Amino acid sequence: MFIVFEGIDGSGKTTQSGLLAKKLNAFWTCEPSNSSVGKLIREILSGKIKVDDKTLALLFAADRVEHTKLIKEELKRRDVVCDRYLYSSIAYQSIAGVDEDFIKSINRYALKPDVVFLLIVDIETALKRVKTKDIFEKKDFLEKVQNKYLELAEEYNFIVIDTTKKSINEIHKEILEYLKEYNKV
Ligand code: C5P
Ligand code: MG
Repeated sequence: MFIVFEGIDGSGKTTQSGLLAKKLNAFWTCEPSNSSVGKLIREILSGKIKVDDKTLALLFAADRVEHTKLIKEELKRRDVVCDRYLYSSIAYQSIAGVDEDFIKSINRYALKPDVVFLLIVDIETALKRVKTKDIFEKKDFLEKVQNKYLELAEEYNFIVIDTTKKSINEIHKEILEYLKEYNKV
């Protein structure tokens, strides 16, 4: 089963995807991935290198081509839990000004996840949770990205969990409850 976690920075994706991967003995991975394209993306996000927003969208799609090969290989043996995937691209890059249909078309080869958990959070709380700030981690921008994610939740049927006032363990249990449907836990 291919399980994806989405949400703005500070929503708890890394913590929750890590806990779930451990619980399921799944392969735990994230985007930007460890591919050479993923490494270049991280340098751009830190602000060291500047590129056009369309270029960044293409790089994310290219990183995803590499990453998806690895995910497919792993899925032959075990479940895969991924911290960010295609929907991060649609949300972040479209709010950055790139045409949404263009983003969707360059990501045509992405896998369709079995389940997507969208973790939402109050923006102030999110900003307090993130220690290192990248070029996108600003209040107004994140607010728009979260609203875009909520639109996508309707379009793609995400499971939406508000993490603002819940403990790590409460959220983890909620996630496991949803997965009971798939006889996973
Ligand atoms: O989740 P993590 O903090 O490692 O993600 C790195 C950054 O990449 C995010 O803060 C977000 O600003 C950005 N990002 C993006 N488009 C994606 C995936 C991530 O702009 N498709
Ligand atoms: Mg971040």
